[in-house]
Amino acid sequence: MPAAARLILKRGREKSLRRRHPWVFSGAVERVEGAAEAGATVDVVSADGERLARAAYSPRSQIRARVWTFDDAAVDADFIAARVRAAVELRGRLGMLEPRGACRLVFSESDGLPGVVVDRYAHVAVCQFLSVGGEHWREAIADALVASGAGIDSVFERSEASVRGKEGLPPRRGVLRGSVPEAVEVELGALREIVEITGGQKTGAYLDQRLNRTRVAAYARGARVLDAFSYSGGFGISCLLGGAADALLVDSSADALAAAERAAAANGVAARVRCTTANVFDELRSLRDRGERFDVVVLDPPKFVHTAEQVTSGSRGYKDVNMLGLTLVAPGGILATFSCSGHVDAALFQKIVAGAALDAGRDVQIVERLAQPPDHPVALAFPEAEYLKGLILRVP
Ligand code: SAH
Repeated sequence: MPAAARLILKRGREKSLRRRHPWVFSGAVERVEGAAEAGATVDVVSADGERLARAAYSPRSQIRARVWTFDDAAVDADFIAARVRAAVELRGRLGMLEPRGACRLVFSESDGLPGVVVDRYAHVAVCQFLSVGGEHWREAIADALVASGAGIDSVFERSEASVRGKEGLPPRRGVLRGSVPEAVEVELGALREIVEITGGQKTGAYLDQRLNRTRVAAYARGARVLDAFSYSGGFGISCLLGGAADALLVDSSADALAAAERAAAANGVAARVRCTTANVFDELRSLRDRGERFDVVVLDPPKFVHTAEQVTSGSRGYKDVNMLGLTLVAPGGILATFSCSGHVDAALFQKIVAGAALDAGRDVQIVERLAQPPDHPVALAFPEAEYLKGLILRVP
């Protein structure tokens, strides 16, 4: 094999790699020696000539290289397969490999596979390759998933996230292995979810909220529930299964709400579900103006903050929606509120919600703090992986 190309760092710019952070930014790079193709493995070398890591080279991205390993290991199909196996092994230990279940099998940097996300829906794996390095190993990863012992016979690619543009990659979708059904019904605890593999948002479902839905449902006996930003109704339907009286689902996507209707039927709660296709901000105002109140209000908005520069504007969005949500909670009721913006950490989120409570004139207690589930682990060297936070609040 020809010697790997070498990515030489500027003097003093090796510090983050010594802390085993897996990203090399373009500003840290002095020069590249040898022919390095996009996605190929390069040696990352300090200004003093010390080899620090092997990484995937990404010439178009601000993140110029993503580390595969800080050790001496050769990066080949066996290496990639071993990483996939290790990721699957964790989910097995978590009890998340039930044949009809679903979980995140591979969570990118946190599982040592930067730019690779894999969700499992029963026997189907749905992959997102979000970096040229991940893309480079597409076939090896598909093979490794089928061989992983996670019960996978079909692999579908949904590499559609906008971050691919930053890597110079076009969106891509299609069957990688086996025959992929349009939709798969999975069981997530008590909830049956119909996951649209080839349609739907992201990889088809929001697996990161699975355990949080159960927590919220614990407050829902007899409740009138408002599930805002419902997608296919995971929170609202979980609350109904937990004994809620009825649930109103609000989402701007008519497709998502059509899926919610099917899911409600599959769970035997269709008679107690209403759906409204609307902008949540508008709909919450109109519910408020009509004097409607709910015993449990769930706010699970999309990511409002995508970059550090958007923290201020995004915080305003979170504050507005939480103020509106709080005014809709009946006395003694519950607000379950979430943020999936990594740039808004748990402390800031709590501060924003406190500001919303103050403006709404309601004294609020934190009853529970929620986070992402264990199949979305956070590598200690990569705190950026921590993104989901939530609060369950009682509103007297
Ligand atoms: N709570 C869901 C996941 C929500 S994802 C679950 O547990 O599965 C965020 C949802 O918000 C998406 O379905 C998206 O269609 C919807 N959405 C985004 N912006 C919106 C807006 N302004 N008004 C209403 N819905 C919105």
